[in-house]
Parts: sequence; structure tokens; C-alpha cells
Amino acid sequence: MTAELIVLGGAEDIGANCTYIGLDGTGIIIDAGLHPRDRGQHAFPALASLGERSADVLVISHAHNDHLGGLPFVMRAMPHLRPLMTHATRDLTHVMLHNTGRLLKSDITAWFPTESLSYYNREQIELLRHAFEAVPYDDPIRLKGWHGRHDVTMTLHWSGHILGAASVMLECNGLSILHTTDIQFDDQALIGKAAVPRHHVDVLITEATNCGHDTPNDRVGETKRLGKFIADVTNENGSVLIPSFALGKTQEILRILYGLMRSGSIPSIPIYTGGMGERINKIYDQYCYTEPFRQPGFEVSDIPQERVDMNALFSNDFMSKPSIVVAQSGMVNKGTLSHALARVWMRNPAFGIAFIGYQDPDTPGWSLSMSEPGVPFMFGTREMTRSCKVERFRFSAHASKEGLVDFIGDVRPGTLCITHGSPDACDALALAVKERLPKTRILIPSLGRRYTVGRQTDGQGASAHSHQQDPSDGVG
Ligand SMILES: [Zn+2]
Ligand SMILES: [Zn+2]
Repeated sequence: MTAELIVLGGAEDIGANCTYIGLDGTGIIIDAGLHPRDRGQHAFPALASLGERSADVLVISHAHNDHLGGLPFVMRAMPHLRPLMTHATRDLTHVMLHNTGRLLKSDITAWFPTESLSYYNREQIELLRHAFEAVPYDDPIRLKGWHGRHDVTMTLHWSGHILGAASVMLECNGLSILHTTDIQFDDQALIGKAAVPRHHVDVLITEATNCGHDTPNDRVGETKRLGKFIADVTNENGSVLIPSFALGKTQEILRILYGLMRSGSIPSIPIYTGGMGERINKIYDQYCYTEPFRQPGFEVSDIPQERVDMNALFSNDFMSKPSIVVAQSGMVNKGTLSHALARVWMRNPAFGIAFIGYQDPDTPGWSLSMSEPGVPFMFGTREMTRSCKVERFRFSAHASKEGLVDFIGDVRPGTLCITHGSPDACDALALAVKERLPKTRILIPSLGRRYTVGRQTDGQGASAHSHQQDPSDGVG
């Protein structure tokens, strides 16, 4: 028994994540992302690579934009798809898609197909919302496509990444395929670690976000370091800016700051937040008993927060009194609150900026986080010099390489497909797994290429090759 696998986005990249799996006549698409930067050819999943193949189901693993933002595009192309996701993801999806529509309209570039913007109209998103079907965790459901010969059993498992996030298990006619999607095997401050079964599967598809380095996740150590940074800055009457993603990172950092204040590691100073984070906090709170929160019932909205006054941005009290400002975007993209604040923050030697998340090398956040005091650097399109303090911290919602290798070692897949990481990160994970499981066939799929995966009868499973491709591959 074999399956057909085509990666339509997120091949050797953290891009418009999308994976097609053809399983005994049923076509399943997992995720429909929007590329974080690309507004050209690769902004949306490469659906043209499907050729004449049909798909029946669209599973959204979680509500981050690189997994969800392309959903209106995919549903426009294939309106018959049945969109499935967890209950929390369904609720988050609504907030996130409206925001994506707004961002795309302000971020429009010459080569972005303007027709695509219409997919994000308020009416279109509301229409889609009615089609979303929520699926409980750990509760197998049966799927069968138009051309399906056997039922496919699909089960969503908690992946420990953000609220609502799920790994997807597919079983059909004796063949098992697990797509971890974005996964975290360590507890975070607010939410608990993944609860995905560690039994053998025939095919494992996984991410490699953090595999470009060997640093394990050290939340406790990083929390202490962040506390010291904030205490140092605020003791000198400065304020701290924390650029943060609205979904996931903002709720985690608020929980961390709350803990630091409660333990007396930092003074009880005002925390300012604004924008979409507040609406997402409320959705987190709705699920604080039913999702695997580390402290059941903990509500993010209960953490005292002041609202940033956007109408008088630089007259807010945080400019004159020691405060913490948690602002989007996490990568300090142009046109966002964190970008506007960072430009002013940089000029004040008493102020500090704490980076807590992944910075894409092409973003203003990256260049600012790598800058040296007093040395000019390009902040977006503008040359700037900073005199404020800048520090980087690692609070990852993704598994460490070590955590992934342990998991893969337990699961012992016949075939491992590595996606969602830079080419170096994918290669590093492949190498580490090859040492541990020399019999596992390892694929680093290319975008749009067709692979046959599953129980091989021709001995292909006996060797491990990066970038291995099926002899019958065709680029569709
Ligand atoms: Zn994610
Ligand atoms: Zn992702």
C-alpha cells in the first residue's frame, strides 16, 4: 500500500505550507498557507502541481498565517473541499483571515495578483466560516473521497505549538501517515507539550524549523535572562519594547511577564498591549479549561494590561515611565506598531528592545536584532543607528532538533519527509536521523514534485537519501 505525496508549499522553506496526500483514491490537503514574504509566484500554494488530481478534504493544522493565510485562495480554486480543523483553530481562523486581508491590502506590491485580494473580502471570509467543520482531538473520523476505495481514518492530536494546533494522523488500508505540522515537545509557559502517539508509522512528515542549530529549548534559563534584561532597563527608568506575533507568542510572553512580576524578578510596571492580540487573548481564555493549558483556568485577559493609545502614540505613559510594550509585528515589519515604536526606541539609550521570536533575514527585525550600537544599519529602506539596548531571547513554539530526533527515533517511520525549514535545517535533521535510523528512507521533498511513499516492495526503504525522488516522478 502506498500513497502519493506532493508538497505544494513549505518545501525547504517556511512558506505557504501545503501538502497533498493521495490515499487510495481520497485526496487530502493539509494546510493552505500564505508565504510570509513572497507576494509573487510562491505567495500561495502551488496548486497547479496537482494537475488533474482531485482533492476532497482540507485539514488546517493551526491558525498561523503560513498554514492558514492561503485558505481563501485554495477554497476559491476548489470550492468542494471539506475544511476541517479543531474547535479553537476554527475560532482563531476568523480573526486571522480578516487580519490577513487587511495586511495584504496595505502590503500590496506590483507583482501580487490584485484579483487575489477579492478572496479576502469580508463577505468571502464570512461565507467560508460557515463551511468550517470542527473536529475534536483524539476522536477518529472517517473520510472517503469521490474516488476513494477504502475509508481513511483521520485523527487530530494536540501538537503543543499554539492554541488549537494539531498533528494529523491518517490511516487507510493498513497504511499510517502522520504529519506533525508545527510541533513542540517541550512545555511552554502557558500551554503544555505535544500529546502525539509515539508508535510506529509508515510515513512521517515533519517540520525542521529549529534544526539549523543544536541549541536545545531552555525556557527557564531564557526567562531568567529576560527578567534580568527588563530589570536592568527599567531600573534606569527605561521602557522595554517586545516585538511579538499576535497569535501564540503574545499570550506566551504575557504569561512569562506575569510570572516574572509575581516572583519579584521584575518590578510590577505597566504592560501595554494593543491590536489583534487582545481578541486572540479572549479566544485563548475561552479554551483555558478544555485545551491542555499548563495551569487549567488561567486567563490571559486577567493579566493587567494597558491599551496602547494609537491616536497619541508617543504621548503614551510608556515614553516617560518604566513600562513594557508588547507590540506586533514580531518581525518589526513596516506599517506595524512595533516598527513605529522601534524607530523612536532606538534613539533612547535608556530604552531596551527584547526580541523573543524567529526573525526572517529579510525583515527589519532581523537587521535591528543583529545591529551594533552606534553602527549604521538598514532598517527597512531607511538607514538608522541605534543607541538603545537590544537583546535576543529564544522562546520557541517549535521542537528542538534533539526533541524531533527523539520523537522520530520512537516512531521509526519507514519514510521520513522533512519540510518547513531552511535547506540547512532540513539537511541537518536528515543527517541526524540517518545516524539513528539508517534504514529509514529520508526525503526532503522539492516543491510540486510527486513522490510515492508507504510500504515499498522494491527495497527502496533500505537506503536513506536526501532529495530522493521516486523513479516515476513527474513535475505536474
Ligand atoms: Zn505555526
Ligand atoms: Zn509554520
